Amino acid sequence: MKAPVIADEREIGQALDAASADAGHIREIIAKARELRGLSLNEAAALMSFQDPDLEAEVFEAARDVKLAIYGRRLVLFAPLYVDNHCANNCLYCAFRRDNSELARRTLSLEEVAQEVRLLENQGHKRLLMLMGEDSRHCSLDHFIRAIETAYATRTDKGEIRRINVEIAPLSVEDFRRLKAAQIGTYVVFQETYHRDTYKEVHPTGRKADYEWRVTAMDRAMQGGIDDVGIGVLFGLYDWRFEVLALLMHARYLQRTFGVGPHTISVPRIFPAKNAPMSYRPPHPVSDAEFKRIVAVLRLSVPYTGMILSTRENPELRHQVFNLGISQISAGSRTNPGGYVAGREHSPEDEQFSLGDTRKTDDVIRAIVEQGYIPSFCTGCYRLGRTGQDFMDLAKPGLIQQFCLPNAILTFQEYIEDYASEETRQAGESLIESVLQDVPTQARQSEVRQRLDRIRKGDRDLFF
Ligand code: SAM
Ligand code: SF4
Repeated sequence: MKAPVIADEREIGQALDAASADAGHIREIIAKARELRGLSLNEAAALMSFQDPDLEAEVFEAARDVKLAIYGRRLVLFAPLYVDNHCANNCLYCAFRRDNSELARRTLSLEEVAQEVRLLENQGHKRLLMLMGEDSRHCSLDHFIRAIETAYATRTDKGEIRRINVEIAPLSVEDFRRLKAAQIGTYVVFQETYHRDTYKEVHPTGRKADYEWRVTAMDRAMQGGIDDVGIGVLFGLYDWRFEVLALLMHARYLQRTFGVGPHTISVPRIFPAKNAPMSYRPPHPVSDAEFKRIVAVLRLSVPYTGMILSTRENPELRHQVFNLGISQISAGSRTNPGGYVAGREHSPEDEQFSLGDTRKTDDVIRAIVEQGYIPSFCTGCYRLGRTGQDFMDLAKPGLIQQFCLPNAILTFQEYIEDYASEETRQAGESLIESVLQDVPTQARQSEVRQRLDRIRKGDRDLFF
C-alpha cells in the first residue's frame, strides 16, 4: 500500500512562498479567525509572514480572545513521569541518545514507579504523562504497561491518579491496542521535524531513523482504538514556519482520514541536553518572539485543539503564552527517572534536558491563580468516555463553560482542601468566587456551589 503523504513539502513550500504580508489581507484573516472556524494553510502562512508589531499585537489579541471564548480562564495541569532513560536511538539533540556514554541509565522498578506516583500525588497531581526511551532490552512495553497499572493503583490518603497520557515511541496497531486496554488517555508523539532531509540528519540510527514509521504512528494508534492523540514538533530543528504548516497538515489529515483531529498539539523548543551537541546550537533556533507567534497562529488555526506547554520554558514566557492559546501545562516536572525523590531532582547525570521552570507545583499554581486562571485537574471527559469526536462535539464555547469550567472549579477546590499552601488557598478561594460568575445559568452555578460544599465537607471526585 502506498504510504499517505501527511505533510506535503511542496504544498507547504508553495503556501509559504505565496504568503502575502499585506495589512488589509492579514486583518481579513484575523477577522475570520475570530469566528472560531480555523484557518487554511495559506491563511496561517500569511499570519507568519509579516514583521509589523502593530499587526502582531492584533494577532495576539485575537488569539487571546479565541482562547477565552473556547477554553475560558482554565489551565489543565499535569506532571511527566519518566519510567526509563535507556535508548537505542541516537537523536542528536537528546541526552538519552545511545552514544551518550556518560548518562546514568536507569529503569524504574514497579516499586520505584509507585514511589514517584506517591510523591506526585502529594503535590496534588491527578494527571500524569508517562514516558520512556526506546530500548526494549531494558524497558519492554510489558514493563511500561505494568508501570501504568501500578500508577493507577497507587493511592495515598487523598491522592489518586485519574488519567495517564503516554508519550513513547510509535507502536504497531496490536501494541497500541494493548496500550488502549491499559486505560490510557491521550497517546502523544512528536514528529520532531516534518522536513525529511532534516529528519534523516538528526536521527542517524535506530528505529527512529524511519520517518515513515513515525509519521504514521497516529494512523496506527487510531486503528488500535486510541482516538485521543497528541502531535508536536521539536522547534529548533528546521524552519518554524514550515513546521507549523506541517502540523496543520497532519491535523487535517487525521480529521479527514479518521473523522477526528488531534486532541492536542505540543510546542517544545530544544533546550540544552548533556552530551547532545545539537541541543546547544540548534540549526534553526526559535526566538521568544517567534515562539509567541507560533502559539498564537496555532490557536487561531485550530481553535478546538488543546495546546500543551512544558516546563522547558521559563516562568515569564510561560505566563505570556498562557494568554496566547496554551490550554495545558506541566508543573513541578523532572525529566529523569526517579527524579521526584528528594535529592535526585534536576540531575544532569540522568535527565533528558534542562528545564526553564523549576518552581514547585504549588508555586506554579499560585502564580497561575494570580494571573486570573483557574488550575484544572479535571479528567471528567475521559472518564465519561467523551473522547475523540465526542469530545470535539463538546468542545464548543457554551458547552465548555457548562462542563469544563465547573469541573475545573471542583478539582481546584479539592486541591485547595488537600494540598494548597495557605497563600495559595487564600488566592484560590477568591478566584473561585469570581470564576463562578462565568458559569452559564443560575441553575448550573448553584449545582457547582452545592458540590463545592460537599468537597469542603470531605467528598471527592465530583464532576459533570
Ligand atoms: N523516546 C520517545 C520519543 O522520542 O518519541 C519518547 C519521548 S522523548 C522521552 C520526549 C521528547 O523529548 C522527544 O520527542 C523530543 O521531542 C524531546 N526532546 C529530546 N531532547 C530534547 C531537548 N534537548 N530539548 C527539548 N526537548 C527534547
Ligand atoms: Fe531516545 Fe526519544 Fe531521546 Fe530520541 S528523543 S534519544 S528516541 S529518548
